[in-house]
Amino acid sequence: MRISGPVQQPDTECADEPLATVEAREGRSTEVGGLPVARVLPTKGRRTVGAWCFVDLMGPMDAQDPDPLEVGPHPHIGLSTVTWLLEGEALHTDSLGTEQPIRPGQLNLMTAGHGISHAELAAEPPFRGVQLWLAQPEATRHGASRFEHHAHLPRATLDHGEAVVFAGGLAGAVAPTTTDTEVVAGDLRLRRGTTLLPVDPRFELAVVPMEGRVKVGEAIVEPGWIGLVPPGVEELPVEVERDGVRALLLGGVPLGERIQMWWNFVARDREEMTIAYREWAQRTDRFGSVPTPLERIEAPVPPWLAGQA
Ligand code: MN
Repeated sequence: MRISGPVQQPDTECADEPLATVEAREGRSTEVGGLPVARVLPTKGRRTVGAWCFVDLMGPMDAQDPDPLEVGPHPHIGLSTVTWLLEGEALHTDSLGTEQPIRPGQLNLMTAGHGISHAELAAEPPFRGVQLWLAQPEATRHGASRFEHHAHLPRATLDHGEAVVFAGGLAGAVAPTTTDTEVVAGDLRLRRGTTLLPVDPRFELAVVPMEGRVKVGEAIVEPGWIGLVPPGVEELPVEVERDGVRALLLGGVPLGERIQMWWNFVARDREEMTIAYREWAQRTDRFGSVPTPLERIEAPVPPWLAGQA
């Protein structure tokens, strides 16, 4: 499965600009190993929403050309990967020895800390899902790696719909997910009308449509776009024109740390990423090994090292 969406050059040029009100931003169409992807975070003027630092909407894969969906072993540092499927099934393996299938409605959460490696294989086409990253804060990002799977997640009842809550709490439903910072994540299924989402006013928020468009405050947010909401909101109005609209709600306390991302690494400076790049190339113990027949993915040369001997 092509869910390791490596960070590309345009993604590294996003800075955080303060928001006065809700703003809709267009995502970027890209491709991760052949699978069409809408990358809505990072986006122009926005690097993080809470600790969320990467949001890819993956698929659907081409039914006419169903290549085997697979991503071989590759490393991560300084982040948690959150995998949320809409269709299909996938198998996660990692250097902790984890082997975990995942289906829609379930959550895989892998936290890298100082270093981990993993591989992903999609068992069943069609495949569609969301790949999210949470940046780890300074307090935990040098620590141990871990993995958790949640087969059952709580549902929140909303004014005009419901939400499966897969991180943090929403409308009385609290997810069992372990996160290093205070965050929220919910898969909203909305009926026609306006839902007032009860949210934490300390949180930055984002609404990411997956099926149908939504109006967040006064901003229309189309699929492939992201609606960004500044802190200070206690009830977020989300209006939809028809039944069956589906969107993600993401949010969290502002990270307050300036991150840098390159390839599969979240760090604070180039030196950290250079060291991780070299350790992956040299196959040191840092990233362990993954029990999978899939081929290992080598890192590209970091652009800041290109041309050096
Ligand atoms: Mn990955």
